[in-house]
Amino acid sequence: MRKVSVFGATGSIGQNTLDLIARAPDGYDVVALTGGRNVAQLARDARAVGADIAVTAYEEELPVLRDALAGSGIAAAAGEAALIEAADRPADWIMSAIVGAAGLAPGFRALRHGTTLALANKESLVTAGPLLLAEGRAHGATILPVDSEHSAVFQALVGEDMAAVERIIITASGGGLRDWPVEALPDATVADAGAHPNWDMGQRITIDSASMFNKAMELIETKEFFGVRPDQIEAVVHPQSIIHALVGFRDGALMAHLGAPDMRHAIGYALHWPDRRHLPVARINLAELATLEFLAPCDTRYPALGIARAVMETGGRAGAVFNAAKEIALDGFLARRIGFMDMAGVVEATLDGISGRFRLTDAIDTLETVLETDHLARVEAEEQVKKMQGRK
Ligand code: NDP
Repeated sequence: MRKVSVFGATGSIGQNTLDLIARAPDGYDVVALTGGRNVAQLARDARAVGADIAVTAYEEELPVLRDALAGSGIAAAAGEAALIEAADRPADWIMSAIVGAAGLAPGFRALRHGTTLALANKESLVTAGPLLLAEGRAHGATILPVDSEHSAVFQALVGEDMAAVERIIITASGGGLRDWPVEALPDATVADAGAHPNWDMGQRITIDSASMFNKAMELIETKEFFGVRPDQIEAVVHPQSIIHALVGFRDGALMAHLGAPDMRHAIGYALHWPDRRHLPVARINLAELATLEFLAPCDTRYPALGIARAVMETGGRAGAVFNAAKEIALDGFLARRIGFMDMAGVVEATLDGISGRFRLTDAIDTLETVLETDHLARVEAEEQVKKMQGRK
């Protein structure tokens, strides 16, 4: 039986992963499930799938987790070290779906054991792409993309020669504010930006979708994961979210990946890879769809895309600074300290301001450098939020 672990099991990706695992109870031996504050859910899931161990990231939650698992025979543990120990437990397949920089260390650790890592945690590639891929190569591990766009590209590339790839196009729904006049965007509220037309996701990623900071992250992920040049990557607005990505080849052919907007497709593909198995996702009826639209993204409406291009060109530590700054900018927007369009201003000012502390082009060569860069960028970005707030 395949041994699997799910990091970030209580989140949106984690729950979808467990849904697929639970549909084939004889196929998987669940080793570790990890979560954060939602220990009740973590304990319920650990019992339901018969995990060996459940780990919460927070030490203070351990007594509650222990109580909830009492009598089950499932071990309980807590804290960062326990997450690393969970990544040391032998597993054939590990889902990396912890949100944020906290997901980096367990993912890196899992690669050391030559496992197959299904990578949902965007921050790993954006902040430390070259390092992560090198770690995977050094230990003979396999990294599979879980973001729907990158899974789509990965699927379109099966059996293809990368040398024949001319361009990669990832699609974007355009987010909840797609049809707003550009002049009205500075006044968009958290509620306005937090409503997504197609995907059912958490509040932060939904707002990142409206600002296209999510797509900006995905441009950087594309460059890192597939090893293409920034000028080979395009983003296009596709309001229906049916085509997730396209790969253009040197003979002019475009291979598109179509699928219902349901993360279980990309998760299921990674879970069963290299096989394709039945997945409980909606089937597309092309005649009912009738129209698929594509629009070039407007730079004024989506400044995040231009910033991502500059970050890709710079390389080095720029991705880690970008990621940290966009997190702090989003916190500022959620706390109503800055406006919707100020988020891009904060990220740009952080990338400019941080160059006094280190060179953006300096290589990311250890996990410690990533975490140090993340910390310094957060401090700088917080300064920029304060300045922006002062100007309001
Ligand atoms: P959620 O916020 O729904 O879940 C995050 C998970 O991480 C939860 O299990 C949470 O625990 C846990 N967690 C939170 N903080 C910590 C911490 N400090 N240490 C350890 N664990 C922690 O996120 P999503 O599932 O939406 O996303 C997970 C990752 O996948 C992100 O990087 C995201 O960008 C990426 N992604 C998400 C997509 C989506 O459709 N949602 C699509 C593609 C990529 P708890 O809830 O118990 O506190």
